[in-house]
Amino acid sequence: MFIISSKNMLLKAQRKGYAVPAFNIHNLETLQVVVETATEMRSPLIVAGTPGTFSYAGKGNIVAIAADLAREHNLPLAIHLDHHEVLNDIEAKVFAGVRSVMIDGSHYAFEENVRVVKEVVDFCHRYDASVEAELGRLGGVEDDLVVEGKDALYTHPEQAHEFVTRTGIDSLAVAIGTAHGLYTAEPKLDFERLAEIRARVDVPLVLHGASGLPEHDIRKAIDLGICKVNVATELKIAFSDALKTYFIQHPKANDPRHYMQPAKVAMKEVVRKVIHVCGCEGQL
Ligand SMILES: [Zn+2]
Repeated sequence: MFIISSKNMLLKAQRKGYAVPAFNIHNLETLQVVVETATEMRSPLIVAGTPGTFSYAGKGNIVAIAADLAREHNLPLAIHLDHHEVLNDIEAKVFAGVRSVMIDGSHYAFEENVRVVKEVVDFCHRYDASVEAELGRLGGVEDDLVVEGKDALYTHPEQAHEFVTRTGIDSLAVAIGTAHGLYTAEPKLDFERLAEIRARVDVPLVLHGASGLPEHDIRKAIDLGICKVNVATELKIAFSDALKTYFIQHPKANDPRHYMQPAKVAMKEVVRKVIHVCGCEGQL
């Protein structure tokens, strides 16, 4: 199988002290760029999609294209459900071939979050699909998910231990001061909290909201136990900016095979940089 769960890749990352990047993909071109670049750099790879991305591109299309690219490049990869919330929807995507799931119950109170996540874990583990869940609440905007700064909550280390034990999740997304989207001011990450969570929790930890985060912060977070780094906005911006520039310079352009090229080159730069910062080059 070329579409695998992210469980073993994250456990290996945890053992060896690097992180696996999860790139949010939106179309054929993003998928091609992340698979080709990860192959060149011999890096493990997670391609992620929000519910909005799967509705836009079609779950069958995403699975088929990713599986074909993985086969062509001999690069087993995980297709990951980013910020999914509904069990029925998750079931349909696991039946379509996905083996890596995030159930986001972070908007619920603790007990309800545990209940919802446990239900998804019970289902997913029967199909060998790995499960990530979030405790605490990230601020910012990702697709339809909008969290005001005042509603953002940091992950509580003691509660994190209880949450992982009771739900049986394979990885935990932590809220330590990152946000979705781009940062308007330099973020201040709570590394002390991250170290405390690491000391109490043995599953791999996940950092959302890495777009625009200084490289030294990402590296420090990896040193303190982060094993998966999510990148979405940075890729979108590279893609769109290159496309806009191309059309300004070539207003008569009408062939996607030409005008998509500079957008792909720009995304490739971002993917190379992220793989480098994650320290996962050559870890395939
Ligand atoms: Zn996220």
